[in-house]
Amino acid sequence: MGKHDEEGQAVFALTDGHCAYCGASLAFWGEWHLEHVVPRSREGKWKGNLVPACTRCNFRKGVLLPSEFRRWIPCGLRKQIEHMLPAVESLCELLSATDAEAVLTHLEDALCRMENTTVTFYSDDLLREIEDKFFHGG
Ligand SMILES: [Zn+2]
Repeated sequence: MGKHDEEGQAVFALTDGHCAYCGASLAFWGEWHLEHVVPRSREGKWKGNLVPACTRCNFRKGVLLPSEFRRWIPCGLRKQIEHMLPAVESLCELLSATDAEAVLTHLEDALCRMENTTVTFYSDDLLREIEDKFFHGG
């Protein structure tokens, strides 16, 4: 099946043309992916296992299950922020002391929030349902 055939259209319609994870609007003739909720490599080969996803989510989720992806996101975001720290620190050197302090406070707040984040996907119920089928059958 392809994303532009009848089955692809049905998958696209599942989320009304949004990425099942981040909720981004997708253009049917544009760039989006038929995403395997349960990865193919983990026996996710049945038809009801597909949702539409944007490139970024599809790429980041990789071979994870939705529940694993959900747990990965705060940690992945945290790593990205930590990656940015040296750049932010040099930026702060250029700012006034008060501005630099404000920037660092925001960053610290963001890092704290990451740790307590529960990620809810755009099509959370659908994704849970599909993953449940995988674990419990039927
Ligand atoms: Zn997305």
